[in-house]
Parts: sequence; C-alpha cells; structure tokens
Amino acid sequence: MQGLMQDYQLTLHNIFNRMERIYPDHTVVTGGPRPSRYTYAEVAERIRKLGTALEQKLGLGADAVVGSFCWNHVQHLELYYAVPMSGRVLHTLNIRLFPQQIEYIAGHAGDEIIFVDRSLLPLLLPLREQLPSVTKYVVIDDTPEGQEGPEIPSDGAFFDYEELIGDCEPITAFPEANENDGVTFCYTSGTTGNPKGVLYSHRSMWLHAMACTSTAGAGVKPTDTVMPVVPMFHANAWGFIHSAPMVGANLVLPASDMTPHGLSKLIVNEGVTLAAGVPTIWQGIVPLFDRYDFSKLDRILCGGSAVPAGLIKEWRKVDVLVWQAWGMTETNPVASGAIIDPRLDGKSEDELLPHRARAGTPPPGVEFRIVEPDSTNELPWDDVATGDLQVRGPWIARDYYNPDAGVELSTEDGWMSTGDVAAIDPFGSVRIADRTKDLVKSGGEWISSVDIENILMGHDKIREAAVIGIPHPKWDERPLACVVLEEGQEMTAEDVKEYLAPQIAKWWMPDAIEFIDEVPKTSVGKMSKKDLRDQFKEYQLPTA
Ligand code: ADP
Repeated sequence: MQGLMQDYQLTLHNIFNRMERIYPDHTVVTGGPRPSRYTYAEVAERIRKLGTALEQKLGLGADAVVGSFCWNHVQHLELYYAVPMSGRVLHTLNIRLFPQQIEYIAGHAGDEIIFVDRSLLPLLLPLREQLPSVTKYVVIDDTPEGQEGPEIPSDGAFFDYEELIGDCEPITAFPEANENDGVTFCYTSGTTGNPKGVLYSHRSMWLHAMACTSTAGAGVKPTDTVMPVVPMFHANAWGFIHSAPMVGANLVLPASDMTPHGLSKLIVNEGVTLAAGVPTIWQGIVPLFDRYDFSKLDRILCGGSAVPAGLIKEWRKVDVLVWQAWGMTETNPVASGAIIDPRLDGKSEDELLPHRARAGTPPPGVEFRIVEPDSTNELPWDDVATGDLQVRGPWIARDYYNPDAGVELSTEDGWMSTGDVAAIDPFGSVRIADRTKDLVKSGGEWISSVDIENILMGHDKIREAAVIGIPHPKWDERPLACVVLEEGQEMTAEDVKEYLAPQIAKWWMPDAIEFIDEVPKTSVGKMSKKDLRDQFKEYQLPTA
C-alpha cells in the first residue's frame, strides 16, 4: 500500500523562502578588506536581482554552468542560491588548486562564465587563454574602500557585480525544481589522477543542511551566529551556507582575512557562537587567548583532518568545545560528529577526551560499515578491528561526473568506499586510524600515522607533527616523525622518543625524528603528507 503524503520536493527554494519570510531581520556580515552587513531580507532581494541578471544581462542558458572563484562573502552566498534556483549549476572553483587543475575542472564541468573576486584576478587572468568555454567574467570588487585593486581588462567580457545586479528587477518567482536536479559542482583535489567532480543535488543539500541543524549534527539553531572559516570554494563550507539560513542563524563570512587576529576580531565583534574550520586554523588562534575575549563562542566544528586531543584540551581553557566532525567532498561533506553518548554521562571532561577525539557517529540518514580490504565482509564494532570505512545515505555521492575510465565510486552493493581506515566502537562511534595511503606499512603490519601525530601534538612544546613512511630494506617502511616546535622551544630527538615510549607499542617508535619549520599544507589547509613525502624522498633512515 502506498503512503498518502504530499510529494513535496526538497529544494533550496524552501531554505530561501525561510530566509526571506521567517528570518528577514537576521544578518549576513562579511569581514575582510571590503566589509558589509545585510539582513536576510536584503540578501534575498539581491538573490532575486541576480536571478534576473543571469538571464537578462548575461544571457546564460537555462542550464548553464556558472563558475565562482571567490572567498567567503555575501556575494558568494547569493550565487549559492540564485544559480541553482534558476535551474543552473554553480561550480565553486577551488582557488588554491594548481593552474592546470583549474583549467581541467573548468573545462570538465563546462563553465561558461566565472564570478571572480577582484583580488583573485591575478590568479585567474593568466589562465584565460586556457579556459575556452568561459566567455564572460563578473568581478566582485573586494578592494578596500578608496584603494586601487588589480586592473580589470576592458574588452567587454568583464562586468562589475554590483553594477550588474544594481538596476535589475528582482525575479518574482524562481522556476520550480526537481529535488534531484544538480545544484553545485565541487571537485576533489585529487592526490592521484585528475580531480573528480562531485555534483550535489537540491535534495542532498537540503537533507544535509537539515541534519546539521539537528542535535545529532552540528545543532545550528536560530540563536546562533555562525562563522564558517572553511571555504565556500570547497565542499560547500560544510553546509553552513544552507543550514544557517534554514534556521535563521546569523552568518559571519571572513572573506580573504583568515589571519588569527582577523578571525579573532570577527568572533569577538560579531558575537560568533559557532565557528567551523580545519584544525590548523584553531591551532593558530591558541596563542591569542589572552588578547581576545572568546566568552560568547560556544563551539567550534573542527574536521577535515584528525583533530588532536591536545587542541580540544587547549580550547577548553577558554571554555570552548572543539567538536570533531568527519567527512569528504563526496559526502556533502559532513557525515559524522563526535556526539557524546548518554551512556558516558557522569564522566569528567578528561575521561571524555578520547571520545571527543573521535570522528563520531553518523547523523540520521547516513550509515557506516567497516569491511576487510577489497571485500564486503563486515568487521565487528569492537573498536579493535580496523577496515575500509564505507558509507551510504541520501547525501553520499553515487558517481563522479563523467569520470575517467575505470574510476568508480560505489561498491557493487551500493556503498561508497572512503579510503579511510577506521574502527567503530560498540556505541557506533568511528575512530579514523588513517587514510589508506598514509598508513605506514612495517613488516606486514600497519602503523597509524594519525595516532602517533596525536600523541606528539599533545606535548606542550610541539606545535605540529606529521608521520610518514620511509622505505626500509627489511621492514618495507618505517615511520619518520617530522616535528614543528612551538616558538622558542627546544627538544632533541631523544626527548621526543622518551615522551613517546610509554604511549605507543615499541615497534611503532619512529626510526627518526626530524625538526622542520612547517608541515606543508594542502589547498584547504590540511597537512599535505604527499608534499612531505616528496620533501623526504631521498631521506635515509639511520641504519642502527
Ligand atoms: P574535504 O575534507 O574538504 O571533504 P577531501 O574530500 O579531500 O576534502 O578530504 C576528505 C578526507 O579528509 C577524508 O577521507 C579523511 O581522510 C580526512 N578527514 C576529514 N575529516 C577527518 C577527521 N575528523 N579525522 C580524520 N580525517 C579526516
């Protein structure tokens, strides 16, 4: 028997209507060099004007692909809604990719136009010849008031964003959409092969946003002021551009100023209650604890790479919860969070720390399993067995967009293999042991680089640590620990080993410790093991 409920489509239109009708006086603040402040009612009006401009002024076809090459700011938010609600697809280009990768993804997705920050023109313009599908550029001027920004070519292909929407009539009604229509492209950074295109749908965005507002997710609520530091040019700024307007939380967007001082000032001045970003961002603010008052900040959603227990502990000093989440571009991206199960009630914060330092449990809708490599044989949830972490759910990608031959995303039985090695505890909480490619293979056994890094970063004198495998004639690979010390601190390799010894198995002990100035970072600020491995390509481990 069929149910008799309405076939209501889960689309961005619903979120837009809520921002316009239910939360018109809540605000969107942009920081950085060209600050601005709008209410959701004003933003909604600007989105409607942009909807008109896309068709009438820019002449874009009904299903055109529209690129953006922008920081986090209100205009980018407007693109996030006007483009898909008008039936087109937004392609958020990652500004930190290599030029060849940008050329590849713009061509692969078929971008016809790019909205670009004026400050980023020097990055994009040299590629213009290599972007044949792109015929128009719309420049968002983020130059500080009264200063001259990078020059804009005067060849008719360039438009100014504010002039463009300024005199447009707001579109009265956006066309209806099917919830399975594509809304946004995001390409994975691709450590091997070409970047791969993930194409989110209205339905995946809506359900993901809804989950982020639930207490089993990030718990975004109407009284929050949310600051996504995580970029809108990669993985939807973890969905905050949708979850905040959905429940009327104020948004604070830092634009190009991602400095520890810039972010701290925004948090304090705007009364941010919930912020989100990769661990390195929050690590960078720790030394400023006595310079700013973080008393309004309630929690930080942190993920994208393993969140060290030491970082969670540091932020506890200013009474801020660092709340770990796990996800991938392919999972929209949030697919789990370190919710503390009621079975742990009564435990002290110190006792809870190991639980907070886990990737956590999936929100309703998403399912996890761990399997033996290259099989569908499920492993037990005993927190000991580790295997390939696989996920499924309504905001998990099924396929890549026009993938290269042989690139497949789904297993035969409909799960997505993540490439992460994980254990699951009896509470259903996931512990990421490593990325498959980052595990150190020693004598046929695996060493988790993440576990050693976490312990190292728990030391007061150590700012950052990254562990990589170095080829070894007898053991296949042995770990090398690269350590960045806090400023003005001193440690010897022996000190580091002495500190590690009681905390890890003997055979996990790194064969060598190297002190470096900085761990190289990826395009989104995560530690780049690939670059570190390149840096230590010729490294010889001590033979003794
Ligand atoms: P994004 O993080 O923006 O989605 P990627 O898709 O490139 O970018 O990265 C996804 C990968 O990041 C995951 O497969 C996992 O290895 C790593 N990752 C994300 N969150 C965590 C976390 N909380 N702990 C450990 N690793 C994580």
